[in-house]
Amino acid sequence: MMKYEMSEPIGEDFTEKSNGYYISKKSLIAILTVFVLLLVGVAVLFYFIPRPSNEDEVVCPSVVPPPSDDPEDDIECPPMPDIPAEEPTESDPFYGRLSEDIKPMNYNVWLQIYLDIEDGIKRYSFDGNVSIVMHVYATTSTIKIHVWDLNLNHENTHLTDSLQNDVGISHLYEDEVNQFYVIETATPLAAGEDYIFHANFDANLTFNLHGLYRSFYGTPPNEVDLVASQCQPVAARRIFPCFDEPSFKATFDMIIVHRDRRHALSNMPVIKETTLEDDWIETTFDTSPVMSTYLVAVVVSDFPSLELIDGDLTFRVWAQPDYITAANYSLHVGLKLLRFFEQHYGIPYPITKLDMVAIPHFRSGAMENWGLIQYDETTMIYDPEVHTPRRKQDVAEYVSHEVAHKWFGNLVTMDWWEHLWLNEGIAEFLTYFGVDQVEPDWKIWDYFHVVAMRSAYRADSRSSSARPLIHPVGWNDEISDMFDTITYIKGKTICRHFRSFLNMSVIHNGLIDYLQMYKYGNTVSDDLWTMLTRADEGFKGTDVKMVMDSFTLMAGHPIVTVNRTDTNTVIVEQTYFLTDPNDYYQEQYPNNGYIWNVPLTYTDSSNPNFLHPNEHWLYNDSDVITLEGMNDQDWIFFNIDKWGFYRVNYDDDNWQKLANQFKIDHTVITGKSRASTIDDAFMAAEPFHTDIVNALRLTEYLDKEFEYVVWETVLDNLDYTHRMLLRTAEFYLFEVYWSQKVKPLYELLGWDFSLGGHQDYFQRINAIETACTYGTEDCVTQALEQYRHWMSTGVNNIRDEVRSTVYCTAIRHGGLDEWEFAHAKATNESLGTTETDRLQSAMGCTEKSWLLQRYLEDDNFNASTVVSNIREKSAIAYSVAWDYTMNNFDGFRLTYDTVWDFQDYMNTQFDLDQLNLFGAHNSNMSSDAAKGFYDAVQRVETNRDWMNRNKDSMKDWLLQVVNISTTGTTEGVMADVPRPNTPSTQFTDEGSRHFRWQIGRTPGA
Ligand SMILES: [Zn+2]
Repeated sequence: MMKYEMSEPIGEDFTEKSNGYYISKKSLIAILTVFVLLLVGVAVLFYFIPRPSNEDEVVCPSVVPPPSDDPEDDIECPPMPDIPAEEPTESDPFYGRLSEDIKPMNYNVWLQIYLDIEDGIKRYSFDGNVSIVMHVYATTSTIKIHVWDLNLNHENTHLTDSLQNDVGISHLYEDEVNQFYVIETATPLAAGEDYIFHANFDANLTFNLHGLYRSFYGTPPNEVDLVASQCQPVAARRIFPCFDEPSFKATFDMIIVHRDRRHALSNMPVIKETTLEDDWIETTFDTSPVMSTYLVAVVVSDFPSLELIDGDLTFRVWAQPDYITAANYSLHVGLKLLRFFEQHYGIPYPITKLDMVAIPHFRSGAMENWGLIQYDETTMIYDPEVHTPRRKQDVAEYVSHEVAHKWFGNLVTMDWWEHLWLNEGIAEFLTYFGVDQVEPDWKIWDYFHVVAMRSAYRADSRSSSARPLIHPVGWNDEISDMFDTITYIKGKTICRHFRSFLNMSVIHNGLIDYLQMYKYGNTVSDDLWTMLTRADEGFKGTDVKMVMDSFTLMAGHPIVTVNRTDTNTVIVEQTYFLTDPNDYYQEQYPNNGYIWNVPLTYTDSSNPNFLHPNEHWLYNDSDVITLEGMNDQDWIFFNIDKWGFYRVNYDDDNWQKLANQFKIDHTVITGKSRASTIDDAFMAAEPFHTDIVNALRLTEYLDKEFEYVVWETVLDNLDYTHRMLLRTAEFYLFEVYWSQKVKPLYELLGWDFSLGGHQDYFQRINAIETACTYGTEDCVTQALEQYRHWMSTGVNNIRDEVRSTVYCTAIRHGGLDEWEFAHAKATNESLGTTETDRLQSAMGCTEKSWLLQRYLEDDNFNASTVVSNIREKSAIAYSVAWDYTMNNFDGFRLTYDTVWDFQDYMNTQFDLDQLNLFGAHNSNMSSDAAKGFYDAVQRVETNRDWMNRNKDSMKDWLLQVVNISTTGTTEGVMADVPRPNTPSTQFTDEGSRHFRWQIGRTPGA
């Protein structure tokens, strides 16, 4: 571990012995001199800064005190934490896999559901029995079947052969560690024979969102109960005894007994409904295709439904009565998607019905159970009268993902959870093909580029979240951990990576061959590589496994640095990319030296070709590429449209040439390539691979840029630079610059959300946020008008998506009245959490220090929350918040985390000294707090070094690019704004997720 190691001893004079350090006299004098100077320095600093009350406390001069014999140097720093919290802990080896000796062929499952008062003590439970037909592949006397939280009636457990003769059981027991029901037979079971296992059981229906569970809709006392299920990954064993691993596929015959006031749904169509005594009904379902246990599903409810009949297919959606009409969009989109994927892969959907149910309480967004997809209500219900385009897109994406699983997941299933990306990554990737079919105007691949790829790259470039895509797992919690950003988002981005070295037709044919070859079976990742390799025979002849092993068996991804050494030559070098320069490699993962087989694609300005670029394989840490037909003025561009899963960095000269091309004619380079190169430049600058000015120069042309994919990328990347400049003299220029850059986009889109297409909606929110944040005059005027209309009439017509922006802007540019109004609303009215949080956040936007101080001292609010609400808003707010925190720190009302959270804005040696002083004064802090302290110190050191590297060049660049008139005023800066009389807009809608960095932003997000 590099992160928390002690500093190296200084110089060659140190020799370590078992009982301590020896030091040369020369070094000792030098160290003591430096040390005394440091002590004097920090003592002076300490004198001038706010501090805790103890006057005679010592100070902590650095993160780790150097070794010294001098007792006066015995300074108490916070204790070093033993283990970094993000370091994964090793678990015991897992031996709980099923034996291949015996496998299930068919399950007959009977369940009776008790949900009603008349069920007495059985209410909220179920009874069940199961018969499992099994085939024996190797003679054995032991059967292990998964069970979890089931009350088994052992006396009724028995085993028969295929002729219904009893097979003697010598021993029965439950292995709770591995969740096995173990049956040992008196005589061995013969290889090649079938046997039938029978068991009776019951279990509780709790509100645990696992297995079979209780949900409800409505409010007390009028709650209406229902039953839903969630078996993935390992909860089918909570419904009935089963071989609960994905490769143990079988057919299922389900029978559900329920009251006649409800209906039962399962994976298959109903073949019989039998009325029993009292008001019970027994619903029998058709036999399922061969499938994994985690796909079994049951819903028992009184939900109404909507239905489409298409040929022999019945497609239905179900939801609680109030929401059923808002399930109409999912219904129509779902059927179109099913038909699209059938045609796309040439394999018919094998069941004659598909039900989609919106469950009031659901563990995840949705679950792809064959024939019965269950959703959380928020991912299936879309009401155009109430919900935003954001919600509509979410619903379309969820439905597309779940329908895509019918082929990738249900028909062909990963063999074990370590290959989960074969299900989830591919289904995520196909989601976009599906949405592109049903909503072609959305340009959905742009969202893949800006939303999905961004989060994949971010998660994969931090040691705390990066891991190999294919990763061994065993225990249930390890399996659950696989459902993470790496599996889903890196998984789908890796699918897009195929495009960097395979033709689209090859990818398509390879996937079809994969489905045909393995349908109703299970696969490992190598099976996909084999099918893609075969599909590429006769084309590029790629060894897909050789390429993909490096991207799936190692954590992280490379950054490729391109250095042009002369007119016709570039050297390309790859290194492991980490966002934080102090981050470290996770040593527990295999790494193969962190060398990837990188499929480089590139073009240049002598003959720019983004459709058919040049290709080159980078197999080693560096390589030389010879360029054809270029002159010294030409730029070179690598990783076309970011097909490949790697970042690119260039020499300063090429960055400058690309920036010039953007300014001369940005359309020469595709929108996705413009976006990705801007993303790479900002991200390469953060851990010091290049200067931030190289990234900022790429934004100079933005007043001519209107593409969503570019703006979204730029704004996502602005956060760090914004924070670093916030307390500098250059921040004013930075504000003016962005006000100028966004103005054309802002003026084009305006505030009328009824205008424009799907992307304009998101682009408009971006434009308003950016324009108001950086003080574009019209945006400030509009925000003040809307806010003051609310003040004067009591009617809030401000559109939900921009409320945070409007509130903050009105309070920043308004006066005491605007602040007092927000204060009154936040303290006196029940506005709900979201609205109250918005107002409290906006109250931190005032730049009046006395008002900020008053806010901090207001007993109506939590002091830690107020500090975080104001710290990021302005330089003055930061200072007021820091002073207040230091003066009032008590570890309780203002916590250690409140102090550490300043790290994202601290970037000077003075900041670091203040942090260290605070640490020394609180050296008795807990180990957890100490970890936060040392993390913060490291972050501030990185920020300081980043500023030392970039501050002067940023200042020079800003002075060069910002248009400041001779009177000292600038375009886009607020003047005095008159109080309006009339409202300008009439809006109602719900919130968007697109509040990013300037208002209420999360530090470091
Ligand atoms: Zn999925």
